[in-house]
Amino acid sequence: TLEGRELHLSFGHNHVLRGIDIRVQSGTATSVIGPSGSGKSTLLRVLNRLNEPDSGDILLDGKSVLQDDPNLLRQRIGMVFQQFNLFPHKTVLDNVSLALRKIRKLPKEQAREEALNQLDLVGLKHRADARPGNLSGGQQQRVAIARALAMKPEVMFFDEATSALDPELVKGILALMADLAKAGMTMVVVTHEMGFSRSVSDQVLFMDAGVVVETGSPEQIFSSPRTERLKGFLSDVL
Ligand code: ATP
Ligand code: MG
Repeated sequence: TLEGRELHLSFGHNHVLRGIDIRVQSGTATSVIGPSGSGKSTLLRVLNRLNEPDSGDILLDGKSVLQDDPNLLRQRIGMVFQQFNLFPHKTVLDNVSLALRKIRKLPKEQAREEALNQLDLVGLKHRADARPGNLSGGQQQRVAIARALAMKPEVMFFDEATSALDPELVKGILALMADLAKAGMTMVVVTHEMGFSRSVSDQVLFMDAGVVVETGSPEQIFSSPRTERLKGFLSDVL
């Protein structure tokens, strides 16, 4: 279980996270929805300590992680971004195996084997020797997902993972994410794909202006929104 408690973060005078509580049970998927600028990406960044919260606590399996080395937490949480952030001059295989060697300290041969396994799972073993620039956006995102999964994270974060993709490639990545959720991966997914949020997540958080305005099952959030803010948001995006 990953928990954020009363998380606050300001950038200068901009109070971006205003006391966020989030609880993600192991083996479940949580989607985070809300308008642009509401703090969704910042929440993910704080939860894996790319940004340190001003106050509040982050717990994994009931234990606060804020006193630990932030790198330890980042190894336990895999992250996939809108921009794939692959190394353009390295092969697909090297992109996936690099952290296996540098961080998990696997010997070269074993890192290679494990990377190929992960690439196989996302359907890209046959492109192991290609450079990212020669792949489609959807394929590049699969590589980024394989790279994150190769670290054997306990939790996966996705931040608008399909937003930069051509429309015809979106479905494939959403299907891959749905498969991961079905396989029991613990996931936090920031998305504007309401269909995905509704059909795949166990829990939905609706954020607006740095607070969680509503949280509930997809059924509750999409069929019986309680606040005007959520009703307004849904009528804008659906
Ligand atoms: P979107 O849907 O557009 O991705 P979001 O909900 O992810 O929006 P955030 O990116 O978390 O929103 O941004 C929330 C607020 O924090 C915005 O006002 C943004 O300008 C501000 N912000 C985010 N990162 C930084 C930063 N590194 N420095 C200063 N301000 C920041
Ligand atoms: Mg964002």
